[in-house]
Amino acid sequence: MGKKDIDWGNLGFGYMQTEKRYVSNYKDGAWDEGELTSDANVVINECAGVLQYAQTIFEGLKAYTTKDGHIVAFRPDLNAKRMVDSAVRLQMPPFPEERFLEAIEKVVAANADFVPPYGSGATLYIRPYMFGSNPVIGVKPADEYQFRVFTTPVGPYFKGGVKPITIRVCDFDRAAPRGTGHIKAGLNYAMSLYAIVDAHNKGYDENMYLDSATRTKVEETGGANFIFITKDNKLVTPKSETILPSITRRSLVYVAKEYLGMEVEEREVFFEEVKDFAECGLCGTAAVISPVGKIADHGREICFPSGMDDMGPVTKKLYDTLRGIQMGEIEAPEGWIKVIKKV
Ligand SMILES: *Cc1c(COP(=O)(O)O)cnc(C)c1O
Repeated sequence: MGKKDIDWGNLGFGYMQTEKRYVSNYKDGAWDEGELTSDANVVINECAGVLQYAQTIFEGLKAYTTKDGHIVAFRPDLNAKRMVDSAVRLQMPPFPEERFLEAIEKVVAANADFVPPYGSGATLYIRPYMFGSNPVIGVKPADEYQFRVFTTPVGPYFKGGVKPITIRVCDFDRAAPRGTGHIKAGLNYAMSLYAIVDAHNKGYDENMYLDSATRTKVEETGGANFIFITKDNKLVTPKSETILPSITRRSLVYVAKEYLGMEVEEREVFFEEVKDFAECGLCGTAAVISPVGKIADHGREICFPSGMDDMGPVTKKLYDTLRGIQMGEIEAPEGWIKVIKKV
C-alpha cells in the first residue's frame, strides 16, 4: 500500500478531499446501480428540493486500522438502519441497508491509502448523505434523490491529552416533542448553529439541551448523547423520544453491562438530579467520550467531583474498553467490527 504522506497525528477535524466517493441516484421510483467517482462536486438544479426545503439526511462513522493491520468499520449496520429511519421521517426513499454497507466498503477500500495507521489516533471519517435533487417549488417531497458517501481523514480528537469541557444549559430548544430530534437530519443542525456560536462566544464548549415540553429533563447536546456515572458506579443515560439514538451510547451501555459488570439505567434524567452525579460525559463517534467537568446553569455551577484535569475513573474505564474493542486490542462482541480490507 502507498499510504499518503500525511502528518496523521496533527490532522484536525476538517475536510480533506480523498480520491473516490460513491454516488447513486434515485429516479422514476428506483435507485440506480451506483458507482465510485473521482468528481467531488455535486451539480444540481438551482431549485433542488434540498436547497429550498432542506430535504437532507446524513450519517457519520469511522474506518481505521486495527492492531493487526486490518482496515475496519465500527458497527456500520447500525448507521445503515438509522439512515433508513431518517429517510422515512423526511419522506425520502430509504437507501437499502445492504447497499449502504456495500457503498461504505467500496469507498473505504478505494481510499485505503488515506486510512490512518494504527496507533496514530487518527481515523478515516465516513460521511454518507442523501438529498432531494430535482426542482421543487411547491412544498412537497422531491421525486429524485442522490445518495453519496465521501471520506476524509481526521486527526485524534484529543490532541495532547483529554481535557474535560465546560457546557451550559441552553435557553434554546433542539427538538420538539414528536418532531425530528431522533433522526440525523441537517435541519436539526442548522437551527443549533446560533446557539453553539453564542455558547462559544460566552466561553462554553457545548450546549446542554433540556426537553422543550417541560425544560426539566436532560436531552443531549447538539451532536452527542449524555452519560452520567452515579456515586455508586451506575451508568445513567437519558431516555427520550427526541434524542438521536447514538451508536456510541448504545455500545457504551453494552460495554458497561457486559464487560464492566455495571448496572445501567436508561431513563428520564431530571436536570435537578445532575448535581448528584459523580461523572458526566458526551458520547458520539467523533470523541467516543468527551468528559464534562462543569455545567453552567444561569449563574449556578455544577462541578463534578472528577474535576477539570482528567476524565473521571469510570468514564475512563468505559472509554478505554470501547476504544480497545474498536482497535482490536480487546475482543469485540459478535458483529461489531466489519473488516473492509485484510492485510
Ligand atoms: C450523530 C449524533 C450523535 C452521536 O451519534 P453516534 O452514532 O454515536 O455518532 C448524537 N446526537 C446527535 C444529535 C447526533 O446527530
